[in-house]
Amino acid sequence: MTRCRPGLVTDPAYLEHAPGNWPESPERLRGVLDRFASSRVHDLVKLLAARPATDRELRRVHHEGYLRLLETLAGRGGGYLDRDTVVTSRSYEAARLAAGGCLAAVDAAFSTSGPGASLCLVRPPGHHAFPGRGTGFCLLNNVAVAACHALEHHHVERVLIVDWDVHHGNGTESVFYGRSDVLYMSIHQSPLYPGTGELTDTGEGEGEGYNINLPLPPGGGDEDLLAAFDRLFLPIARAYRPQLVLISSGHDGHFADPLGSMRLTASGYHQLAARMRDLAGECAGGRVIAVLEGGYHEEALGWCMLAVLDAIGELGIAGGDVPGGPIGKSAPSQEVARRIDLAIAIHGRRWPLH
Ligand SMILES: [Zn+2]
Repeated sequence: MTRCRPGLVTDPAYLEHAPGNWPESPERLRGVLDRFASSRVHDLVKLLAARPATDRELRRVHHEGYLRLLETLAGRGGGYLDRDTVVTSRSYEAARLAAGGCLAAVDAAFSTSGPGASLCLVRPPGHHAFPGRGTGFCLLNNVAVAACHALEHHHVERVLIVDWDVHHGNGTESVFYGRSDVLYMSIHQSPLYPGTGELTDTGEGEGEGYNINLPLPPGGGDEDLLAAFDRLFLPIARAYRPQLVLISSGHDGHFADPLGSMRLTASGYHQLAARMRDLAGECAGGRVIAVLEGGYHEEALGWCMLAVLDAIGELGIAGGDVPGGPIGKSAPSQEVARRIDLAIAIHGRRWPLH
């Protein structure tokens, strides 16, 4: 199959969801777009047009009543879903285009000549959105809608979602907790909002063993996440043999981020993304789609997104970060290694981890 340049999804409407003086602001996306412009990324990618997700596509994940609530709130000029989660007059349109942008990337990945690898620079983010409730800056669960589209429209049987946002993707977990056709893996800081994502939350019923949480203590860095991927996530993912790899690509684990307390670098995210590209190449016909979630330091987010696009698209352009990062390299911490051992003990009953 001939593959073209990596896909890039973005849309001016994503800047119109503007909740005011808020960490999840349009400036985040502007920062990424500025970084991409400076690096002349647009010459290297295939721009994919976003479209609004239809009600039918959104109902694969979300309740009809919740969709109408969002529509009504936006129509009235806006309001709050909870203390963190604001709907403005433009938010429902932006959210439908964010979910639909991810669907465009999925459709391209399953076409014969479209890009297998794509980056979706979308807002509002999605991984804290539940079927009937938006929380944590998230309105519609973009990645979950994309996974369900691949399953139902493209008739695949196994989709992997890897979530490396510093917060646990509680909304995504809830959508797929009882299902084995989507394997959800989250690595996140704990304790931290939303307070979920325990190691022992492994799924239920059909989904038992298909929900992998690895909570890490504050302070973890590149080496810790790479060890977690190499020892836990990747062996499970290879055994699962996903036909599509989706990444909830939040970068609030970066050392400069104001909301997280981890110490990842753009280079670390590049190495994680390269592993996902290789996994997709082995199992999923090269289909790997990274979707923006959190990340609240604008300059760092730009470098991290560039690193992810560079890695999944094999562009050979990345190589930068904000100054002042962790100096030198260190071995994974003993506490993180202990948590990985615990996770291996739990998941080794189902997956070949020894
Ligand atoms: Zn986050």
